[in-house]
Amino acid sequence: MPSKKSKQKSLYEAHLKRARAMAGIDTCDNTIQPPAGAISADHSQLKHNNTYGPLPYFYADKLVTCRDCGKEEVWTAENQKWWYEVAKGNINSLAVRCRSCRENEKGRKEEA
Ligand SMILES: [Zn+2]
Repeated sequence: MPSKKSKQKSLYEAHLKRARAMAGIDTCDNTIQPPAGAISADHSQLKHNNTYGPLPYFYADKLVTCRDCGKEEVWTAENQKWWYEVAKGNINSLAVRCRSCRENEKGRKEEA
């Protein structure tokens, strides 16, 4: 029986692997079939972008490499939707730090 911890770790690694496999997918291409787990985008919530560039038709889990520590983390489709449509993040902005570095950074800012 694998321990709970190692099971969690292998689930996480499987998630990373799936995100890595989806890296080549163009989420702005509406002629392709969105991958499993993808969430469709709501363009009426993306108007703040003011861009002539393409907007995504769906969000798929994405692999991001932390700018600070180099750790790979999955940026989930749900979190992307939240970031772009609810938090009104710019469509060209990407998550650049892993969760723990983001929290460190937040702590630093609050101290300053
Ligand atoms: Zn990091």
